[in-house]
Amino acid sequence: MKKLVAGNWKMNGSLAANAALLDALRVHLTKPVACDVALCVPAPYLAQVQALVQGSGMVLGAQDVSAYESGAYTGEFSAAMLQDFGVRYAIVGHSERRQFHQETDALVAIKAQRALAAGITPIVCVGETLAEREAGLTFEVVKRQLAAVVHLNGHCISEIVLAYEPVWAIGTGKTASPQEAQAVHLVLRQQLQAASERADRVRIVYGGSMNAANAASLLAEHDIDGGLIGGASLKAPDFLAIVQAAQ
Ligand code: PEP
Repeated sequence: MKKLVAGNWKMNGSLAANAALLDALRVHLTKPVACDVALCVPAPYLAQVQALVQGSGMVLGAQDVSAYESGAYTGEFSAAMLQDFGVRYAIVGHSERRQFHQETDALVAIKAQRALAAGITPIVCVGETLAEREAGLTFEVVKRQLAAVVHLNGHCISEIVLAYEPVWAIGTGKTASPQEAQAVHLVLRQQLQAASERADRVRIVYGGSMNAANAASLLAEHDIDGGLIGGASLKAPDFLAIVQAAQ
């Protein structure tokens, strides 16, 4: 299966910095690229990056989407608005949104549903905290998080991308070992298989301090179908090295 490497810029960037980063990426990521490459950028920069990825091997992504269709929801942006900018992927349920914006499993499931209805692939994030891992709850937590999304989107669950992102590995420099990550990916794969005949085509990507040095060994695991990259997606050489490892 074609791997997916998605950069999550988080709340970083500026018009000038984005242009410089895209310049550096575009030189190497001209079509065809043997894996899918997406850039999930802050909403104010969607138009800028939409123009800059045109004709390249990269596509545009967003970092969130509203659970509502339209209306009096100040500060939110809808799936239809993302569609207007040619957005192909939308991260939903990132741990930073679960943690700082109190997003629940049920809300994340609705966001995934909104994205799917607009033809945008949700990148559904699941992952345990350090305390949950130490308490032996890793599988239970990620299965609960995925179950909510399966419950609401059962019929089209094979259209999502799933991201396993252990919270303790995000932005910390600590990475799950390839074996640790694969064990969780396998559990998630089995859960998807129980829900859909087409579960084998769902890409389950890993996120959490993936970088140029550790990408190849993570991506070599059977059920690791790509990466969701935070910090390393802001540096062209690092991001390009990860894309290289995924090809
Ligand atoms: C992320 O934000 O999804 C992420 C994985 O961040 P980092 O690569 O910086 O750990």
